Amino acid sequence: MHWGLREFTLENGRMRWVKREHLPGGLPPVLTFRGAIDFAKTKCEVVEMPGSTSKFILRPKDGHVWSERDEHRYTGTAREFVLDATVSRISREIWIFHIREHMAWGRAQTLAAVRRCEAIVQSSFSVVECEELNGDTCSICLEEFVASDVCNERSKVFKAKCGHVFHASCVVTWLRKKHTCPLCREDVLPGVPCTGASDVEQSSAINLPL
Ligand SMILES: [Zn+2]
Ligand SMILES: [Zn+2]
Repeated sequence: MHWGLREFTLENGRMRWVKREHLPGGLPPVLTFRGAIDFAKTKCEVVEMPGSTSKFILRPKDGHVWSERDEHRYTGTAREFVLDATVSRISREIWIFHIREHMAWGRAQTLAAVRRCEAIVQSSFSVVECEELNGDTCSICLEEFVASDVCNERSKVFKAKCGHVFHASCVVTWLRKKHTCPLCREDVLPGVPCTGASDVEQSSAINLPL
């Protein structure tokens, strides 16, 4: 498959490309202009390009961009890539199939990281019983707990060792950035690494040397 003179490979949820430069005098070609998209770090989709039998489009999903922190000129862009399978040994359909497979693999990695984080939270915090909620507020979003919202299987209230209480969803998001209680600054997960989706969202999904 080609995009200009680049060659593409798919590997462990990543799409990489190189550019082969042919040197005069029969010297072996050199590989330059490397780049990659990490499907675990961005929400993207691949679709056929209407009106063509060989081209297809790779782009971030609606409302997403390739990367928040990309230092190259594609910073924060939702620009799509048009790829052409004309010179590839495999057809456009097979490329699309494999790229989707790698996207699914990338998403599964992200999900696994979030689950690991949730498991750590559940082992380090205690669950607050509904009856104990007495005008308490979440230490992160500062909203008062409403029993009907927080006392069910999907949504719980957690208490840290410092005694402060949190919505489950608030604390999972918070702990991806910090391990200290926002109110008393106590380390609520001493010695525990806990990384997940927010790192994934913010870090570079695409790397395009220019
Ligand atoms: Zn909250
Ligand atoms: Zn605290």
